[in-house]
Amino acid sequence: MLGYCILFIITFVLTVLYYAENEVQHPKYQDALDASVYNLISALMLSIVVPNPQTYDIYTLSPQNIMYVIIYAIISQCIFYIIHRILHTPELYKTIHKRHHAWNNVVLSPAAFDCHFVEFWICNMMPFALPLYLPLTTFTRVTLIIVATMSVVSSHAETYEEEHKKHHQHANCNYGFGPVYWLDKILSTHRS
Ligand SMILES: [Zn+2]
Ligand SMILES: [Zn+2]
Repeated sequence: MLGYCILFIITFVLTVLYYAENEVQHPKYQDALDASVYNLISALMLSIVVPNPQTYDIYTLSPQNIMYVIIYAIISQCIFYIIHRILHTPELYKTIHKRHHAWNNVVLSPAAFDCHFVEFWICNMMPFALPLYLPLTTFTRVTLIIVATMSVVSSHAETYEEEHKKHHQHANCNYGFGPVYWLDKILSTHRS
């Protein structure tokens, strides 16, 4: 998985750079960036030992491939939502997830990965890495990684959508990730 992990890190860096002009003056910017870098390095180490998904072809756009993209989106949303809700159980919140929620007013893109390393692996990496083992084309995998990383990092920037900021403030709504939050809407945990 090393190649996909490097792509994930490059997308993180470019997204953070995109928001940097408005964020870099913030007194906690360096702290958020340092914490994210430590987690990304741990992901890089882990990706060396995780096997690459099988390559099917490079970029064929077939109805079957589109179906797998939809399945990818459903699986990643479901895994993220379930693990995130479990992290909100009192014991796990106190020991793991509280650190990410120290950002109750989230206004910095690098704060996306300022969290406990266990949370980073099971909640930020696994929901997006696991469905890469579906029979997707390489082009589709690359696109999904870029879109998912940009979405998660951007959701912590001040100028982006409100839902995840509301999650940080109230900690009882919007457990999924944007832009649609369809699982929160189905399970009545959505707050716009
Ligand atoms: Zn967050
Ligand atoms: Zn949370």
